Amino acid sequence: MSQNNWQELEQKLFLRTFDRFPVTLVRGQGVRVWDDQGRQYLDLVGGWAVDSLGHSPPVVVEALEKQARTLIQTSDQFYTIPQIELAQLLIQNSCLDRIFFCNSGAEANEGAVKLARRYGKLHLNGAYEIITTHGSFHGRTLAMTSATGQSKFQQPYIPLPSGFINVDYNNAAAIRRATTVRTCGVMLEPIQGEGGVNIPDDSYLKEVESWCREKGILFIMDEIQTGIGRTGTLFAHQQYGVEPDIMTLAKGLGSGIPIGAFLAKEHASVFAPGDHGSTFGGSPLACAAAYATVKYILDNDMPRKVKQVGKYFMAKLESLKRQFNFITQVRGRGLLIALEFNNEMAKEIAMVCLGKGLLVNIVKPTTLRFMPSLIITEKEVDEAISILEDTLMSLRA
Ligand SMILES: *Cc1c(COP(=O)(O)O)cnc(C)c1O
Repeated sequence: MSQNNWQELEQKLFLRTFDRFPVTLVRGQGVRVWDDQGRQYLDLVGGWAVDSLGHSPPVVVEALEKQARTLIQTSDQFYTIPQIELAQLLIQNSCLDRIFFCNSGAEANEGAVKLARRYGKLHLNGAYEIITTHGSFHGRTLAMTSATGQSKFQQPYIPLPSGFINVDYNNAAAIRRATTVRTCGVMLEPIQGEGGVNIPDDSYLKEVESWCREKGILFIMDEIQTGIGRTGTLFAHQQYGVEPDIMTLAKGLGSGIPIGAFLAKEHASVFAPGDHGSTFGGSPLACAAAYATVKYILDNDMPRKVKQVGKYFMAKLESLKRQFNFITQVRGRGLLIALEFNNEMAKEIAMVCLGKGLLVNIVKPTTLRFMPSLIITEKEVDEAISILEDTLMSLRA
């Protein structure tokens, strides 16, 4: 079938939730993908900050092949080894003590919120409210839509589940003001991803953590986008000197195989048998992929490399900023980077880049986001910058 026919068929068959680029991707390798016309693209989207080790990474492919031949799925009624191995790896390398596996980010956050509500019932006189922030993103379920402090996600679905209070980000006083006897926890992204790569002041998370400790409420970090090496440490909160009571993971955890998780400190691990579950959560297949991913990232000190290549990338973007006066800001940590413009030109830039073989993400009408696989090299960054520079020159002309 020709490219246009695939895309016409999609228009007929799907609920209209996606605004896709006119490209049908059929293959990927490392930081590159190919379309059905044989055109090659350098990929700075990385499966939406998911393909940690690049497309079809050999260590993950091997782990999947081996596990698929051995045991794909059982049920959580039984012990399985890949799940326990992955749990041990994540717990040994984090400040958390216990884990629950699921299939996506939204599902991980739902579980974290349920755990916080259990905690509220048991230890905080039935407190159930969770404070979250404007500009946050926590997922697409109804409850996570309510947690996500962005009206464009909330308005179409009102009335929303209650129990979430949205306050300003990077404002610890706003969290203190919103805290009542009903509050059981605060849930934050260490750096807001979908909100546009918003980096808080150095003191923000520490202040919120102290407040949570003072009030005895739970400090929950949504590290779904920022975790697993993305920002230059295994988890982003480590750069801010804080320790969450609960942390959620998904995106980069399985190199593209769907898996999510939430982890908790011992004192917050208040679930009892029957309180929560997930049919597919923690399948041996998904856990084998995630284990291979996390092991590779740790064994190869990928977070340190991400920090270096991210600095290099941002320095190159800063020099573009000096060259083009319509670029207003470069911001980011590790390989979670945004480029801000003084007008709504992100879509136009992304389309021209596409034509030149570069995939970038439009995080806001005025903002591009770069979240490539963690294996990207400085040479590949140079290639991307050169395409971006050509694009910006052609638009200025
Ligand atoms: C992507 C994302 C989610 C939702 O993850 P899904 O797997 O799409 O459900 C939640 N929180 C953050 C910070 C995210 O970036």
